[in-house]
Amino acid sequence: MSFTIPRTQKAAVVSTAGAKIEIKTDHPVKTQAELAPGECLVKLECTGVCHTDLHAALGDWPVAANTPLIGGHEGVGIIVAIGNNTSHCPVKLGDRVGIKWLADSCLNCEHCRKGREQNCPEAKLSGFTVDGTFAQYVVSYVNHVTPIPEGFDSNAAASILCAGVTTYRAIKYSNTAAGDWIVLPGAGGGLGHLAVQYARTRGLRVIAIDTGAAKKKLCLSLGAEAWIDFKESKDIVKEIKAHTGGEGAHAAVVTATSGAGYQQAVSYLRAGGTLMAVGLPGTATFDSSIFFTVFKSINIHGSYVGNRQDAVEALDIAARGDVKCHFELKELGDLASTYEGMQNGTVAGRVVLNMKD
Ligand code: NAD
Ligand code: ZN
Repeated sequence: MSFTIPRTQKAAVVSTAGAKIEIKTDHPVKTQAELAPGECLVKLECTGVCHTDLHAALGDWPVAANTPLIGGHEGVGIIVAIGNNTSHCPVKLGDRVGIKWLADSCLNCEHCRKGREQNCPEAKLSGFTVDGTFAQYVVSYVNHVTPIPEGFDSNAAASILCAGVTTYRAIKYSNTAAGDWIVLPGAGGGLGHLAVQYARTRGLRVIAIDTGAAKKKLCLSLGAEAWIDFKESKDIVKEIKAHTGGEGAHAAVVTATSGAGYQQAVSYLRAGGTLMAVGLPGTATFDSSIFFTVFKSINIHGSYVGNRQDAVEALDIAARGDVKCHFELKELGDLASTYEGMQNGTVAGRVVLNMKD
C-alpha cells in the first residue's frame, strides 16, 4: 500500500499566543523520508474542537503552548506513512487511527509504567507542544495513536478522543457505584454532555449543571435526572441536597471552564464524596472549607485526560452506540467562529470539523 502525499496542505496556524487564526493553504507536509523512527503521518478526515484548543490559542494557561502552533487533538484519519526503522510497530499503512491530546510518552518512566502516561516528563501534547489536527496532515507517534473500531463513523469518533476519554476516566475513578448520584457542572458542553452519558452507562443518577435552554434540553435528553441552571439558581447546594434526599451527591465531575463551577462542591457532596477536577480555568484557585473536607472525608482528585487503555475503553463504549457525541459538522474555516461560540457559551455539545476536502 502506498499513498501520494502532497508537499503542501491547508492548516489553521496561530503565530503567537492570542494572535488571530490564519488559514494557510501552503503549509508544508513532512515527507515519508523526513519522519523519525516511531513517527507516522496521518491524513485527517475530521477533528473535534475542544475548549483546551481555545485556552492554547488565547495563551490563558500558566503553561505556554509552542508557537507558531497548529492546534487540535481530537483527530481521526488514515496512516499514510511511517518513519523508516520503526521497530515493533503496532500499526500499519492504511489503518484508521485517532489522535488524542497525549501524542507520545516514553513508556518507560515511573508514570508511564504506572499507567499515568499523561504525566510522563517526556510527554508530547497534540496541538500544544507538537502540531495538532487542525491541518490536513498530522505527524503523530505509532505507539500512541488509537485504533478506531471498524464501522464506527469517524465524525462520531473524533471527540471521544479527548472529551470522551477524559470524562470516561474521571468517572471511572470517581469512587461511585450504580445508583449513586453524580453532579456534572459543565454538563451541556463538549466534555459534559459525554460525561452525562458515560455516567448513565454505569447506572449513575445525574444532576446536570449548566445554563440555557439548549443545554438543558440536551442534558435531559441524554438521561440527566435533574437540571440546575447555574445562572438562575439561588442556592445550588440546597437544590442538590433536595434532589439527593438531603445528604448530597456521591461525586462531582467538574468540566466547567470557570472556577465558579468548583466552589460549592465540598458543600454539596455527601460524606465520603469525591470531587474529580477536570475543567481547566487558567488562574482560578479552589477555595473550600478545610474543616468540612476533613470532617466529611471528602476526596479531591485532579483528572487529566487518559492513557492508551482509557482511550480504547472510551471508544469501545461509543462504537457500540452507548455514548453518542452530539456534534455539528463544520469546516476548518469555521474554527474562529467556533472559538467565539465556545467563549460565549453557545456551543451545546461539540463542533467537529470536516478535514476531507
Ligand atoms: P465547553 O466550552 O464545551 O463546555 C464548558 C461548559 O461549562 C459550558 O457549557 C459552560 O456553559 C459551562 N460552565 C461555565 N461555567 C460554569 C459554571 N459555573 N457552572 C456550570 N457550568 C459552567 O468546554 P469543554 O471542551 O467541555 O472543556 C471544558 C474544560 O475542560 C476546559 O477548561 C478544558 O480545557 C478542560 N479540559 C480538561 C481536560 C482534562 O484532561 N482535565 C481535558 C479536556 C478539556
Ligand atoms: Zn481536549
